[in-house]
Amino acid sequence: MSADAPGHVWLVGAGPGDPGLVTQAGLRALRDADVVLYDRLAPPELLDACSEDAERIDVGKAPGRAAMTQEQINAALVEHARAGRRVVRLKGGDPFVFGRGGEELQALAGAGVEATVVPGVTSAIGGLAAAGIPVTHRGVAASFAVVTGHEDPTKPAVQVRWAELATATDTLVVLMSVGRLDGIAQALMDGGRDPGTPAALVVEATTPRQRVVESTLGSIADAAREAGVEPPALLVVGEVVTVRERIEPAQRRPLAGWRVLVTRTRRQASTLAEALTAEGAEPVLLPAIEIERRAEPEAVRHAIEALRGRRYAWVAFTSPNAVDAWFHLVREAGHDARLFAETGIATVGAATARALEERGLSADFVPPRGSGEGLADAMLERGVEGARVLVPRAERADPALIERLRTAGATVDEVTLYLAAPPAAPPREVLDAIRAGEMDAVTFTSRSTVRNLAALLDADLEPLRAAVVACIGPQTAEAATEAGLPPHVVAEEPSVDALVAALRRYAAEGA
Ligand code: SAH
Repeated sequence: MSADAPGHVWLVGAGPGDPGLVTQAGLRALRDADVVLYDRLAPPELLDACSEDAERIDVGKAPGRAAMTQEQINAALVEHARAGRRVVRLKGGDPFVFGRGGEELQALAGAGVEATVVPGVTSAIGGLAAAGIPVTHRGVAASFAVVTGHEDPTKPAVQVRWAELATATDTLVVLMSVGRLDGIAQALMDGGRDPGTPAALVVEATTPRQRVVESTLGSIADAAREAGVEPPALLVVGEVVTVRERIEPAQRRPLAGWRVLVTRTRRQASTLAEALTAEGAEPVLLPAIEIERRAEPEAVRHAIEALRGRRYAWVAFTSPNAVDAWFHLVREAGHDARLFAETGIATVGAATARALEERGLSADFVPPRGSGEGLADAMLERGVEGARVLVPRAERADPALIERLRTAGATVDEVTLYLAAPPAAPPREVLDAIRAGEMDAVTFTSRSTVRNLAALLDADLEPLRAAVVACIGPQTAEAATEAGLPPHVVAEEPSVDALVAALRRYAAEGA
């Protein structure tokens, strides 16, 4: 945005923690933002929606460590907007529920800056829902109040009218209460609320780390100490807590809270990570492969010439990476998809077919079994004797496809495009977490992810032996077994969805 255009601030509610709970308007504002000022409670994943060159400013107020004062935040919002920038102020939950959103808007109005409020799902309601506690329930609770527990109820200057609130509503939700549970419970009991009233704490609601501690008003503070409850947590007092046992089973997610290692390349990890998150698991990303382009110029030139001369009956793609790398080379050589005009196109599986679709090419067939062998079988059925076949692929790829085609009488031109190598600088903290045995499951999506993970761990896979091993297909499973991690589950078809479904089934049966 140019500096002479007026800036604008979007005050966006990020929702309670699950990045999927932001609104469409909020997401659009994030995508368009030049600068984002975000809080500690806003899900960090949401920042991935911003453009790469958007400035990200952590104004996070961790307890006892104020990164920026409210005045500084207000001033920064005004300053960025006056510089003509699109500013997103991202806040946990809803911006107006104990979020000081009103103060920020006031400052913007005072400075003549335009602003838009994008409401969010407040933890006070959405967080309880995720724990199976409805804030109202027919016949049980017809009213609720949301209160801050931040004030010390034993001090004279309190603004929360605990005595009146104690019996005024059926459900009482207290935010920022963890440090003051004794005083809050006492104030409510002093106000006439029965000590036997059901009460619960929902910790880190809607995240993979969500926990629920159930008790009564009289003993919730002890229960919290015993369970080691830390903020952020929601205190809920009222009969609705008892509804949980009736509705929670329907919401149960077998993978909830599982830490699942994802070993794909950074570019490919996101679909698997999203599918795991949707099941309540926490994906831990360790890109075990990096794609290093390694084309042999002579072989590439030769293959492109043969394509132009319509000499190939088939071109067989064995991975989305191969599609990417090959098209890169084709473009570099000054050509495009028309090169394939009279060549049959075969793919190993659905993901590879999709990578081709993105370039406007439909595969002539996708074998039912997504493996090199499945691909070879499907091609053999169509007859390859005497045919010339191009296979652009990774260095050290599975040789089964090529061997079978050659045995069946095809002439195969292999073109090595890239090497799937372990990354040069793997994230230390993830390696440490693996070594500490913190993974509940590990996923492998190709042979090279197995080989390279072993390399990253200096061949010591012992810390993963207690984890559930999930493989995308039979060949990956074979590689995992050879590495000493025999798979507990193998996907029924080689797709991310089938992999997650298999893991989910396994977890459900084990539960
Ligand atoms: N504007 C936010 C609340 C900000 S006050 C909203 O609408 O949700 C911060 C308090 O919110 C925390 O102390 C905690 O009590 C509560 N909170 C926010 N996110 C939470 C979460 N994921 N789990 C439990 N409590 C949460």
